[in-house]
Order: sequence, then C-alpha cells, then structure tokens
Amino acid sequence: MELLHLKNLEIKDKKVFIRCDFNVPMDEFGNITDDRRIRSAVATINYCLDQDCAVVLASHLGRPKGEANEKYTLAPVARRLQQLLKRHVELAPGVVDDVTLKMAQELPRHEVLLLENLRFEAGETKDDKELSQKLASMAEFYVNDAFGVSHRAHASVHGITEYFDKEHKAAGFLLEKEMSFFGKIINNPVRPFAAIVGGSKVSGKLEALVNLLPKVDKIFIGGGMAFTFLKQLGYDIGASLVEDDLLDEAQHIMDEAKKLGVKFYLPVDVVAAEKFAEDAVSKIVTAQEIPSEWMGLDIGPATVRLYREALNDVQTILWNGPMGVYEMDRFARGSSKIAHFVADSYATTVVGGGDTADLVQRVNLDEEMSFISTGGGASLELLEGKTLPGVAPLLILE
Ligand code: AMP
Repeated sequence: MELLHLKNLEIKDKKVFIRCDFNVPMDEFGNITDDRRIRSAVATINYCLDQDCAVVLASHLGRPKGEANEKYTLAPVARRLQQLLKRHVELAPGVVDDVTLKMAQELPRHEVLLLENLRFEAGETKDDKELSQKLASMAEFYVNDAFGVSHRAHASVHGITEYFDKEHKAAGFLLEKEMSFFGKIINNPVRPFAAIVGGSKVSGKLEALVNLLPKVDKIFIGGGMAFTFLKQLGYDIGASLVEDDLLDEAQHIMDEAKKLGVKFYLPVDVVAAEKFAEDAVSKIVTAQEIPSEWMGLDIGPATVRLYREALNDVQTILWNGPMGVYEMDRFARGSSKIAHFVADSYATTVVGGGDTADLVQRVNLDEEMSFISTGGGASLELLEGKTLPGVAPLLILE
C-alpha cells in the first residue's frame, strides 16, 4: 500500500492546498491544551514553503454543524501556528466565500493562508461536489496531511481529490508516517497484543471492537462504555452512562471474545459519584455495588491492579479512549495510573485519539510512548483492515 509521495511532486513555486487536522482540544478558556496536531503538521508546511510555494491550509475544529460559529473559529490555531512556523499566518474570513477565494487566488509565494473552519460549510461532511470543487480551485496541488480525519469521506479529504491527477496530489509527511506505523502493527504485531479501549460510548467504537477481536489477545475496557457491558452482565450500574439499545451487541462482543479465546477484561470496581461534577461526593465501590442514582466516573484501584497484572506479559499495547472523566482531576486517577504503567512497560505502546493523547500529555508521559497517533477513529479503522476514504485516492496503485 504505497502512497503518492509529496517529495515526488513538482511543487516548486506553485500553490499548494494542504488539508491538515487542527482539531485540537481546548479548555474552558479557549486555550489549546494539546497542540500535537498542529506541531505534527509543521514538517509538511515548511517543506512546501522551502519549495517557494504559496500555502493554503484547511482544517475543521469541533462540530459547528454546518454554520459559522465564533466558538469554533480557527483563530487560536492560527496564532499557535504562527508561533510554530515563526511567520505570519493569515486567517481567512470564511471557507469558500468570494473574499476568501480571492485571497487564495492572489496568495503570493512564501505566504500562508488558513481557511476558516471547514465545518462552517454544511457541504464539508456531506462530501459535497460544489464545495470540493471550490476548495480544489484554490491551488494547483493537493496534499492530505490530516490522518485524524482520513476515515471520513468529507469534501476536503475525499471529494477534492477528484480534481487532481496523480502528478498533483500526495500524502503529507504526517499521513505517511501514521500509515507506515499502523501498517507494521497490523501486519506484524509482536504478541501478546492488547487493546485498551475506553471513552464515553460503545456506539462509536462498536465496529472497531468487533473487528479488533480477531487481531488482539486481550481487551481491556474502561470509561463510560464499560457500563453497557456491566449492565448486560446483570449488574446494577446506578445512573452510569449506558446505551440500552446496545446491550445485545455488548453480549455479542463478549461471546465473540470467548469464542476466539480473547481475554476480555471489564472494571471490577469504579469511582462512583452522586453527580457529574468535580465537587460531587464520590466513593470507591465494586462494579456490582454501584448505588442507584450514583454514576461510575472512573475505574477503581482494584481494576487498575487487575489491568496492570494482566498487561504484564503484553508486547504490544494499543490504547484508545480514557478510563474515566479525566478532564476532572477527581476522576483522572484511573487513566493516569494506566498511563504510567503503559509508559513504563517495555511493550510497543501506541496511543490513539485526541482525548487519550491529551490525557497522556497532561501527565507528561507523551515522550515515553512509542507512538502517539493524531487519529483515534482513523487508527481504529485501519486496524479493522479498512482502506480509508481519504487515503485510497492517494495510493500509487488504486
Ligand atoms: P470518546 O470521545 O468516546 O473517546 O470519549 C471521551 C470522553 O469520555 C471524555 O471526555 C471522558 O470525559 C468521557 N468519559 C470517560 N469515562 C466516562 C464515564 N465513566 N462516564 C461518562 N463519561 C466518561
């Protein structure tokens, strides 16, 4: 699966459109809490600038649902990018309005123009033709460096590629690096291979879980998604997050795990709270004894010990999704303990997903992991064996 290389394009003195993934986490004050995704894009941008290109950058941020919304402006990203590139970054007023199109058209060499949030346009997530075409009209070359969104058939990732032939489009350095790393993990994982899967919902990760089963030796579940499994096992989960319509699916996953001989671990205790708040009264209870009206917001200390024990002999660890509501200090301990253990292990450790990367950085362990992927959903789909819609048009042999 070889990708069209950026270095093979004849971009000297030309205009290049780079789809980046600047979808960074922010705190309640609008500060970027983890700028890994922005930092990771710098190599490709600088390469193009060194080739004397004019550079148009595009990204989404959050879910503004198809209309302009000040809350999701890329202005903080433009400021951070400016610091990292040590040069001016012009933020366009929109995505494909007349003023922005003109700015892109007249963009001089060595200048960087960042479009506003792509998802201010309803057509972005619909892979809309007209939007794709307008975006494509901005440059002579197209580069996709947005691994984190390459599993989506969106206008700036998928539709746009139709307007460039193979001499005029390529994967950026970040996309190439991510694809090559996951290629190795998929084709040749050193075993035992464990997946730690957390986060809020089963629904977002259901297919990934089903497809991961034949590939891994052990699965460890944490976060809100654990409660759908625990409820299916007949436990009283109180007011914890649960997806009742997925109880059958949860059973199916547990049955499949058993059939395939995959060890499937669920929390045995949790930190339960009276309400979803930092100042809530909380206590540690076993997974079978969550008081009604209380909600489990983190894995408990016995689960941490259990998971550590079972992870001891593992050679490859893939971690996607926090073990609890790590944004609140009180419910961050489970994720932090697992992060320390994963970081200290001699296994190849791969962290995927914005939240997981964010939490690993908060405890200063990002340098200790073998690889931190900028794409959670995308990396899961790759592990499922899918060809990503943003990557397929960039393969040398489609
Ligand atoms: P996801 O986007 O599905 O990966 O989920 C990440 C989010 O899950 C984080 O914002 C966490 O705060 C949240 N989360 C983790 N554990 C729980 C839990 N036990 N209850 C509710 N939300 C949770």
